[in-house]
Amino acid sequence: MGLLSQGSPLSWEETRRHAEHVRKHGILQFLHIYRALRDRHKDVLKWGDEVEYMLVKFDHENKKVRLLLCGEEVLQTLQDKGEKVNPNHPTLWRPEYGSYMIEGTPGQPYGGTMSEFNTVQDNMRKRRQEAASVLKENEAVCTVTSFPRLGCPGFTLPECKPTPVEGGASKSLFFPDEAINKHPRFSTLTRNIRHRRGEKVVINVPIFKDKNTPSPFTETFPNDDGEAAKAAKPDYIYMDAMGFGMGNCCLQVTFQACSISEARYLYDQLATICPIVMALSAASPFYRGYVSDIDCRWGVISASVDDRTREERGLEPLKNNHYRISKSRYDSIDSYLSECGEKYNDIDLTIDKDIYEHLIKEGIDHLLAQHIAHLFIRDPLTLFEEKIHLDDANESDHFENIQSTNWQTMRFKPPPPNSDIGWRVEFRPMEVQLTDFENSAYVVFVVLLTRVILSYKLDFLIPLSKEGVFPGLIPVLNSYLENMEVDVDTRCTILNYLKLIKKRASGELMTVARWMREFIAKHPDYKQDSVITDEMNYSLIWKCNQIAQGQAECPELLGVGFNKKQSGNKTGSL
Ligand code: GLU
Ligand code: MG
Repeated sequence: MGLLSQGSPLSWEETRRHAEHVRKHGILQFLHIYRALRDRHKDVLKWGDEVEYMLVKFDHENKKVRLLLCGEEVLQTLQDKGEKVNPNHPTLWRPEYGSYMIEGTPGQPYGGTMSEFNTVQDNMRKRRQEAASVLKENEAVCTVTSFPRLGCPGFTLPECKPTPVEGGASKSLFFPDEAINKHPRFSTLTRNIRHRRGEKVVINVPIFKDKNTPSPFTETFPNDDGEAAKAAKPDYIYMDAMGFGMGNCCLQVTFQACSISEARYLYDQLATICPIVMALSAASPFYRGYVSDIDCRWGVISASVDDRTREERGLEPLKNNHYRISKSRYDSIDSYLSECGEKYNDIDLTIDKDIYEHLIKEGIDHLLAQHIAHLFIRDPLTLFEEKIHLDDANESDHFENIQSTNWQTMRFKPPPPNSDIGWRVEFRPMEVQLTDFENSAYVVFVVLLTRVILSYKLDFLIPLSKEGVFPGLIPVLNSYLENMEVDVDTRCTILNYLKLIKKRASGELMTVARWMREFIAKHPDYKQDSVITDEMNYSLIWKCNQIAQGQAECPELLGVGFNKKQSGNKTGSL
């Protein structure tokens, strides 16, 4: 989840005092990178995926499943056995927000050849097996986007009680600080977001009103100091901590483009695809033990890191702050970056004017300057005492500080200084799926889409109404595939992936969210009151685990015989 520096984290008050310094040097660092690398081109297309995992433990006797707070140790073991002993190890592991989470990526990026699409699922399977191999009996790695009983009493192992008093990170009534990764970045972010905002974060998700759901649906919060009573809305599931958002798992893809202009073009084109792919990947219908009325995590994370003050949110006249800001730091993009996107930039963009002018004076074009000046309206949220004074020509921590806490649907990533990495874009909206098959399908779909966009010079920014009949994305991908030399096995793999996506889009197959809803609705214990009990949670996650392991079929979700890899038919023909 971004830059991980070591050192002594500063309080919000101290960090705030250095905000101008961080912004100023962040811009100088960006300018150094830009000047050195603006003309870099002919980089090959490389890409990689990131899968976020939860660690769980099943208690079969008591029919409970809990989140295991041992991500840090598991991560250490995985790194010690993998990348630390073998630089060519096929997997890489990184920390994530929850101390019950880990993140896995392929050891090396994938390249531009079609046959590499055929290795994605194998690599994801390796990751899952590798992580599982360092766990104990009844423990499992699990790719669910939101853990249905996250924040319910006793949802962690070891069991930890939340401490809703000032002094810790979240001050949450539900989410204990022990469930936050021990790396100081994560708890500091949590505390500083809350301090900057001036109150706890507020997440209200509409509850799904079932036959027996109380109406209005309201809750009382015994340890509340008054904040929850004020913030919780009737008929909404109320949550009060960053962990409810950043403690969810997603699936991301990063591309290295051949040049800065290709990266900017891809950024724009993919931005328009984000909401569609997010909807197709919907996998998170449950929050804090309740059935909600939403299917995707996005709005929850957005609220979970919303550090804007009341002034910035427009609730009070501006006095201490500079701007009204219309969105959280975690949200959709606000401006296009490529020339063909310029005419569609119709949102009022809040920018830091001084930074914008500085960038223009230094020769940065308007679109890029306003993009950066928009990201830089934000304050740094974490700062380490040892990392205040940096060498702007060779380090980029201050730039990354602001950049990596702007969590938008797309991220435009300048190369790190002194590296051989090119200009990249990151595609961030997808929810993680239950199986390696589905996750590979979504990833390959997005990567193929970039190939098609680049080779056919597609422009999704043209309103579809002007195109007559739009053939749809899948036929365009298929026609691209027909013109490519692809071996039979890879073609078969890709076609299976595209079939999954097509059937999810048409409604013939369920999204994970829909399937989970039906699972709960049909559960014998479910009382049609929107409540997910420990036992229901246990059977759901157990089922998810069995599906992910290939031990249970799930035709409503995956179709029949789609997954040739799991069914063992390696040479399947068309
Ligand atoms: N877990 C976050 C999500 O579900 C993303 C964190 C990251 O950027 O790695 O979107
Ligand atoms: Mg991540």
